[in-house]
Order: sequence, then structure tokens, then C-alpha cells
Amino acid sequence: MKIFNAMDQDDYEQIVFCHDKSSDLKAIIVIHDTTLGPALGGARMRDYATEEEALQDALRLAKGMTYKNAAAGLNLGGGKAVIMGDPTKDKKEELFRAFGRYVESLNGRYVTAEDMGTKEEDMNIIHMETNYVTGISKEDGTSGDPAPVTAYGIYHGVKAAAKEAYGDSDLKGKVIAVQGMGNVAYSLCEYLHEEGATLFVTDVHEERVQMAVEAFDAVAVEPEAIYDVDCDIFSPCAVGAIINEETISRLKAKVIAGSANNQLKSDSDGDLLDKKGIVYAPDYVINSGGVIHVTNELSGYKEERALKKVKAIYDSLEKVFEIARRDQIPTYQAADRMAEERIAAVRNARNQFLFRNHYALPQRLRD
Ligand code: NAD
Repeated sequence: MKIFNAMDQDDYEQIVFCHDKSSDLKAIIVIHDTTLGPALGGARMRDYATEEEALQDALRLAKGMTYKNAAAGLNLGGGKAVIMGDPTKDKKEELFRAFGRYVESLNGRYVTAEDMGTKEEDMNIIHMETNYVTGISKEDGTSGDPAPVTAYGIYHGVKAAAKEAYGDSDLKGKVIAVQGMGNVAYSLCEYLHEEGATLFVTDVHEERVQMAVEAFDAVAVEPEAIYDVDCDIFSPCAVGAIINEETISRLKAKVIAGSANNQLKSDSDGDLLDKKGIVYAPDYVINSGGVIHVTNELSGYKEERALKKVKAIYDSLEKVFEIARRDQIPTYQAADRMAEERIAAVRNARNQFLFRNHYALPQRLRD
């Protein structure tokens, strides 16, 4: 792989290869863009087949975090780390401490967090070596489980998307099909039920479905049947790639708004939704409550402040829909554009400031 070509193509700032022989640590930290602030993104632990696969994953995920953090209105850039190893077999204190020392050596340019394959207890070990870590155990000043806060953001995102499609953000009487009844979806259903929506729910675990049936008077459906429910809003809160040609042809909803990551199987599915007039709330915008929640911890966790910022996901989505209309593009592209415009504006303002200050200096200091 031509590493500098790859960095050049998508404007990556830095790649750090971390190798610690005594703990067997092999990790890659990628800093994509720090225009808005330190690069924040989780540390993923996975048994990658090759080093190239690990690097490709880190590059892709780090860039995604730049967009997610920018769209969430955070003063943070995008980065990601991958630790090469099997999370079921290779975890040990010395490995995470060694990783923590690498994070510390970057002096705040990169802030790490939980991701696939890593857990809160791993963050606690990393925290022994660095303060540039978030998602550590809930104690004074830390944030704890992000799922309820993510759900609060999804709820406001569903309302924004309903407003766009139906002209009214009120969910009373709306029929909503929720896919997956995990931590986020269950909290989400509390809000939806409270507002008077009728819920259809599914999960591959029957007991999760039963909980929702009892608590929210929801109608249970089989996992495969959720796409055929005659509903106003479809809320995918389980796994990715569930919006594809086949499911789009079955969906009745005019709105898709849920927490799952990477909902579109491919970009062309986003184009198809647009063509069919279905309002799609881009996943990384509507589910940014999680990242807002954990980063709130960096300045001493305050629930009220976190919830206020999460509620603003409503406004961010309104802006996405506005850009989509303005530029005649699908919403998934409008989300990227919103993030890019914010980064470009901050970068330009900073460059102009530096330029002005440079020429305000006496000649002798300029050179
Ligand atoms: P979770 O593991 O608690 O819930 C997922 C649920 O989906 C599980 O109950 C699982 O049984 C069910 N499921 C899996 N495959 C299914 C299928 N094919 N059909 C129906 N149900 C299925 O996870 P969560 O924390 O609630 O997160 C849900 C989604 O939101 C995930 O995609 C996650 O990446 C995303 N997300 C979560 C957060 C957060 O704060 N937890 C933040 C951002 C994004």
C-alpha cells in the first residue's frame, strides 16, 4: 500500500505505528483532521488478517470520525486507533498500558475511547497512563453508559425527520416500527410511547420483544417482517446495511430515523431513498448522542449540558434537510457537506487570522 498516497488523497494528518515488544502491542493510531480540535475516536481491537487490513480500517474509521464530530457540533477532529489482536484472548494490562503511553505521547492530539472489541475496563487501564481517554468507569466526572443519551438524541432526530416528511414533529398517533430492542431502542421507545406513538417492535431475542410489548403496549413482529409493517416511521436500531434495494422496495414509511451505524448498504441506496421521497436521517448525525455524551466527560461530565447538546441533534438534522433542498442532493450527502462546510469555515478563519497576525509583525520578526 502506498501510504503517503492514501494520506494525500483524503488529507490525513498523521499515522502512528505503535509497537511494544514486551506486551505484544501492535496498534495504529490515525489522526485524520484536527481543524476543529483534538482528534477523537475509539480504539478498536480486532484480529485483523493483515496489517494492511488494519491500516485500511483505521484510515476509514478516522475519517468517519472527522465527519461525525463536526456534524455533532463538537470542537473535536477525527481519529481512530486499531489494536491488532483477538479481544477474547489477547487482552492484558500491559498491552493497554503500552497503548495508553502511545496515546499520552501524542500530547492530546488524539483522544481515545471504547469501540468494537474494547470495553470500559480497558479504558480504565489506558487511563493509568493517560488522561486523553474517555468512557472510563462512572465515578465523579465520568459519563457512564451512553445508550440512554443516544436514545434521547434519536428521539429528537425522529421528531425532526417527522417534521420534514409530515410537516409536524408531533409523534402522537404516528405508527413507528423499531428494529432491534437493545439498550438504545428500549430507551427510545420510552420517549415514543410517552408521546403517544403506536409501536411495532422486533428483535432476534424474544425476551427483549416481550419487554417492549408489556411496557409500551407494542405490537411484536418477526425480525424479517419489520420491513413490511404499514408504518409512518421506520427506526433501525440493530445492525448496519439494512437499507438496501430489497428492503427499500418493501418499506412503507416516509421516514427512516434510527440509531444503527452504517444503515445504507451503499450510497446508491441513499440515492434511491431520495428518489422515492423517503426522508432519511443520516445515521452518523442522528446517533451522535453517544459521542456527545462521552466527550462531555473531557471537561467534567454534566448531564444537563450533555442533554442540551444532544437535543440540538434536532437542529443539526434540520440543517441537513435544508442543505439537501438547497443543493438538490440526498440527505446522506448533505450531512457530509454540512460537516465539510463547518471544517472549511473554521480553517479559513484560522488561516486569515494567522495571515493578518503575520503581517502585523515587524519585518524582523516575520523572517
Ligand atoms: P444493543 O446490542 O444493546 O442492541 C442491539 C439489538 O439488536 C440487540 O437486542 C440484538 O438482539 C438486536 N438485533 C441484532 N440483529 C437483529 C436483527 N437482524 N433484527 C432484529 N434485531 C436484531 O446495541 P445498542 O447499544 O442498543 O445499539 C444499537 C445500534 O445503535 C447499534 O448499531 C449501535 O452501533 C448503534 N449506536 C449505539 C450507540 C450507543 O450509545 N449505544 C451510539 C451510536 C450508535
